[in-house]
Amino acid sequence: MRTDLVAALDIGGTKIAGGLVDGRGVILERAQRATPARQDGETVMRAVEEVLGELAASSRWEHVRSVGIGSAGPVDASAGTVSPVNVPGWRDFPLVERVRATTGGLPVELIGDGVAITAAEHWQGAARGHDDALCMVVSTGVGGGLVLDGRLHPGPTGNAGHIGHISVDLDGDPCPCGSRGCVERIASGPNIARRALEQGWRPGPDGDASAAAVAAAARAGDPVATASFRRAARALAAGIAATATLVEIDIAVVGGGVGNAGDILFTPLRESLAEYATLSFVRRLTVVPAQTGTDAGLVGAAAAALLRGPGLVRL
Ligand SMILES: [Zn+2]
Repeated sequence: MRTDLVAALDIGGTKIAGGLVDGRGVILERAQRATPARQDGETVMRAVEEVLGELAASSRWEHVRSVGIGSAGPVDASAGTVSPVNVPGWRDFPLVERVRATTGGLPVELIGDGVAITAAEHWQGAARGHDDALCMVVSTGVGGGLVLDGRLHPGPTGNAGHIGHISVDLDGDPCPCGSRGCVERIASGPNIARRALEQGWRPGPDGDASAAAVAAAARAGDPVATASFRRAARALAAGIAATATLVEIDIAVVGGGVGNAGDILFTPLRESLAEYATLSFVRRLTVVPAQTGTDAGLVGAAAAALLRGPGLVRL
């Protein structure tokens, strides 16, 4: 029986999760630290080393053959560096080299977190069995990744499929990325909430002004909250339709906190897709919620390492 394992890391602005993952995607051991995101780069790296150290203390560590890392972006897989927007202490930080040194020279595979979630959804989730898929995370930001011709397509630097920064509004609001009218600038959780507040929506007595609170108000029939989700849905639909037209995906999978809003998002999203995805070869495009949940980053990072390993699985 095959016992080779991957040490997987899921590095975000809030937490650094680690796991020992087997060839079927089962997480056998776990370790986690809060990300000291406002500290200097070495302090953040120490948290990564603590996670790896805890995993290495397991008797299963001897079966680990490679390390897979899914990190908040941007990443540069070709250089082995990361510069997560929400971790200012890491700019062109040589994460691959540092993790390789920590793990005694194991091969290390680095991908962006959007690509990691795509790998997980293709392996075990809603994109399973689809050779051409776009998977997205819609939460604080909007990320994504592509499966093309049955294979994960991270691109040269590990960022391909970053749909959050496709412009869908030529004269739209400036985006922190430097462009304007990006999908993320309209459809991310904070931007859904911002739009609702600008248009006159007010939070309830608990003062919760998050996108989840806007979703709850929309579910209760609030027209301004509903309109903010509809606008986000249109931005997502335009980005998905553009992607489908370019590379002929037949499914788009949407996860993340906003993706969990259910019909408040998916009903207008499907209506808007019919409006934007009009050519014959994209009309059969479906859009569905993600299935892999909070472990998607870890499972996807493991998948990326397995895909690159010698003679290993085709997911
Ligand atoms: Zn942008």
